[in-house]
Amino acid sequence: QVTDTLAKDGPSSPSYDWFQTDSLVTIIIYTKQKDINLDSVIVDHQDDAFRAETVIKNCSYLIHIELSHEVQEDFSGLYYRKCQLISKEDITHDTKLFCLMRPPSTHLQVPIGQHVYLKLTVAGTEIVKPYTPVSDSLLLEFKEPALPNNKYIYFLIKIYPAGFFTPELDHLQIGDFVSVSSPEGNLKISKFQELEDLFLLAAGTGFTPMVKILNYALTNIPSLRKVKLMFFNKTEDDIIWRNQLEKLAFKEKRFDVEFVLSAPTSEWNGKLGHISPALLSEFLQRSVDKSRVLICICGPAPFTEQGLRFLHDLNFSEDEIHDFTA
Ligand code: FAD
Ligand code: NAD
Repeated sequence: QVTDTLAKDGPSSPSYDWFQTDSLVTIIIYTKQKDINLDSVIVDHQDDAFRAETVIKNCSYLIHIELSHEVQEDFSGLYYRKCQLISKEDITHDTKLFCLMRPPSTHLQVPIGQHVYLKLTVAGTEIVKPYTPVSDSLLLEFKEPALPNNKYIYFLIKIYPAGFFTPELDHLQIGDFVSVSSPEGNLKISKFQELEDLFLLAAGTGFTPMVKILNYALTNIPSLRKVKLMFFNKTEDDIIWRNQLEKLAFKEKRFDVEFVLSAPTSEWNGKLGHISPALLSEFLQRSVDKSRVLICICGPAPFTEQGLRFLHDLNFSEDEIHDFTA
């Protein structure tokens, strides 16, 4: 017995069909789209409920099928599935790389530039915060994960001792569970097409969306001449993956990284201060005149707000800028 619900909003709703044998139910979704890829589909099977979300252009279509008894789920919010903590590795004095494993019956690949929400129940209360999945490293031999059974999802997360959520996350033991939502975000991958210059402005953990962007751009955009990261931190000890970034800059001639510190020790002889028009105008040099350019910016809200103002003053258009905010 199968009951189902299919959202029918949007220009051309996908249709679907299903068939079943004694051991298997096969569900086929007809999208009438040529460019459907693994990022476009999220599939979950939990507690007798089967759920498939398909993202086509700006619309999300949901198929929800529950076997044997009525569907009771609230469709309005984001959907969460429980993922298991597999490992936790120190990256800096306060930032860790968390590896979570999806349930075996879930296919979920977070698109570049998107974030998810992590949810924990603490003393009977649910707490939720957004985090941006990263690759497990900045590998030169990076390939878009093509395997549908890609099991792991990685996060670089700074632990704030006085914070509400991150100390709870840090207290989890290997094998414990965290709920992970479906992805959200508005970066269009089409922004990278024919791109010649990519400039990344990151502050602190605002580096996280840049990880997949870097890997993607260097591997998939043949028109790209130059990728430059300006990475703002308080001290040298706060720089996430400094060693990997320097290695990547050494091996990949299209990539450069510059570190800017706001509270360095006296030994630091690199760039100093906060984001400023002077730093930006020196950094944002096009590789060729009138090149097709994209600037991505992410960090604490005041950093991003100031950065956006300076970029507009430097005559970059809305189209040439993507800012990551909540
Ligand atoms: P909070 O309780 O929010 O506190 C954070 C810090 O601020 C603490 O030091 C606290 O003492 C201080 N503080 C809190 N309230 C005040 C106040 N009123 N006045 C002064 N100080 C105060 N973070 C990552 O580490 N990695 C990511 O990949 C990541 N991705 C994100 C994606 C998005 C879209 C957004 C919006 C944020 C992202 N963040 C990320 C930040 C993350 O969501 C949390 O904000 C962060 O982890 C802090 O959560 P918390 O509850 O532990 O700390
Ligand atoms: P931090 O306190 O370590 O600061 C890093 C750098 O940001 C500083 O060195 C400085 O250059 C700059 N900065 C900080 N405060 C500033 C200010 N008031 N004005 C100008 N510049 C300033 O940063 P953190 O603790 O790693 O925090 C990272 C922030 O990035 C968090 O607020 C987090 O929510 C945000 N974040 C957002 C997203 C997203 O929206 N997608 C993703 C990841 C992180």
